[in-house]
Amino acid sequence: MSSLLPASIVGSLPKPSWLAEPEKLWSPWKLDGDALVEGKQDALRAAVQEQQHRGIDVVSDGEQTRQHFVTTFIEHLSGVDFEQRETVRIRDRYDASVPSVVGAVSRERPVFVDDAAFLRSQTDRPIKWALPGPMTMVDTLYDRHYRSREKLAWEFAAILNAEARELEAAGVDVIQFDEPAFNVFHDEVRDWGVAALERAAEGLRAETVVHICYGYGIKANNDWKATLGAEWRQYEQSFPLLQGSSIDTVSLESHHSHVPVELVELLRGKKVMLGAIDVASHEVETPEEVADTLRAALRHVDAELLVPSTNCGMAPLPRSVALGKLAALSAGAALLREELAAPPR
Ligand SMILES: [Zn+2]
Repeated sequence: MSSLLPASIVGSLPKPSWLAEPEKLWSPWKLDGDALVEGKQDALRAAVQEQQHRGIDVVSDGEQTRQHFVTTFIEHLSGVDFEQRETVRIRDRYDASVPSVVGAVSRERPVFVDDAAFLRSQTDRPIKWALPGPMTMVDTLYDRHYRSREKLAWEFAAILNAEARELEAAGVDVIQFDEPAFNVFHDEVRDWGVAALERAAEGLRAETVVHICYGYGIKANNDWKATLGAEWRQYEQSFPLLQGSSIDTVSLESHHSHVPVELVELLRGKKVMLGAIDVASHEVETPEEVADTLRAALRHVDAELLVPSTNCGMAPLPRSVALGKLAALSAGAALLREELAAPPR
C-alpha cells in the first residue's frame, strides 16, 4: 500500500463478456435471477483481484453490479417513472429518451449498501464507492413534478446523503460523487450546484471526492470535445468554488486532454485525483507517460495531495486494454514515487 501517490481509478471497468455485452454502455445483463446476483459478485471479485494484482491502492467495485453510473441509482428511487419517457438534451450535448419525475422522489431502501459491504469483505485495502452527483442526476430526467432543476437537486442531495452515510457505515473509506454536468452548466454550478453537492456529502467522515470530466470515450462526447477549441478551460469556473467547498478531493481529466495543467493551481490545498490515463484511446500508456503527466501537475499540487487516477471510467474499453491501463497507472505512480524518494543531488 502506497501512502504517497496512492493509485485509484475513477470508477467503472469493463464487465466480463459472460455477464454483459462488452464495449458498450447500458449493456443488458446476460443472466437473471440468482444467477445474475452471483454473476455480479463474481465480476466484482475479479475487478478487485485485477486492481490489487496490478497495484491499485484504493480499490473500487469497477461498477460491476450496475448498468450505468446514473440510471441504476435512479431506478431504485420512487417518484420516477421509467415507462413515461421524454426526449431531452443531456449535458447540452446529445438527445436521449429519459424517465420522468412524476412525484416526490425518495429512497425507500438502500441502493448500493449491500454491494459495498460485499466489496468491503473482498479486500483489506481502502475502498472507494461512486454515486452520481445531484446535478448530473437532474440532467438525466424529465421533471413533471418539481419543475425546477434546483429543487429536484436538493431532493436528490438529501437522498444521496442518506445513502452515503450508510455506505460509510458499511466500511467505505472514500465516497465519490460523479458530476460531469459541472463542466457544462456553469451558472447552475455557482448558484446551487456546489451547495447541493456539499449537502450530499454533509456530515461524512469518509473522504469525499467530486469527479468532473468530459465524459466516456464515446462518439457523442468525442464530437463535443472537438468543438471545445485548443484549450479546455471549463474547470476554471468550478475549481475556485470547489476549492472553497467542504469536498476533500477533486477528480479531473489531464492526460491527452486539452486542459491546461495550471488550472490545478485553482484547487490549492485540496487533494487532486489527476487523470493520467486516457479512457478514449485503446493505446495503453507507458509508465513514463503516466509519470510525465503526474509530474507536470506537481508544480500546482503538493505531492502529498496528489492521487494518480484515470480520466474517467473504463467500461466501454476492451477488457485487456483496461487491465493494461491499470498496470500502467500504478507503474507510472511508482516511477514518480521513486523519483520523489531519491535524495536530492
Ligand atoms: Zn467521468
